[in-house]
Amino acid sequence: MKELKKRILEDGVVLNSTILKVDRFLNHQIDPMLMHQIGEAFAKAFANEGITKVLTLESSGIAPAVLTGLALEVPVIFVRKKKPITLNTSLLTTEIYSYTKNVHNTVYLEKDIIQEQDKCLIIDDFLANGEAALGLTRLIEQSRATVSGIGIVIEKSFQEGRAKLDRAGYSVFALARISSLTDNKVHFLDE
Ligand code: 5GP
Repeated sequence: MKELKKRILEDGVVLNSTILKVDRFLNHQIDPMLMHQIGEAFAKAFANEGITKVLTLESSGIAPAVLTGLALEVPVIFVRKKKPITLNTSLLTTEIYSYTKNVHNTVYLEKDIIQEQDKCLIIDDFLANGEAALGLTRLIEQSRATVSGIGIVIEKSFQEGRAKLDRAGYSVFALARISSLTDNKVHFLDE
């Protein structure tokens, strides 16, 4: 997606050879106009999948997920990283290793929020080693629903997540694919 790549080049900060900071439009300050375009792009890519629910992990996936749900006109669910006292019905849980925080989090999803007939689209801000996306697929599979696609805003193609998701047979679509972050620069895969 041209506009996204332009913003990554303008506002992204390469922290080291594996981490890109995008706090000016995605992870802290959010650009709603860009999120709107992102939502439209995901909706177009998965238009033929009959998506009934969009699923993401709090908090950075929420903005692109909501705009995708808006474009597809389906509900958006964010999986919780802490168990709120209001969530005391039956829960589905799984462990997800956080790439940026270096901790394992148990994440929570209310059991009946996804039903067997649902076709779910997973949306996340980044794809690194695939832990977050694979954790979300486990929750969908615990619900006996279908994972109909995975939409990623920024894929770091030099890490192993994309290959893992491809191997597992999921349909993955990334809006920007980064081949490396060497020399303090962002290099895209299709440059
Ligand atoms: P994975 O689970 O694929 O290993 O990592 C993806 C998750 O880690 C994303 O949800 C994102 O929050 C975080 N993440 C991974 N790499 C980066 C990065 O380079 N920059 C930022 N800001 N977050 C990242």
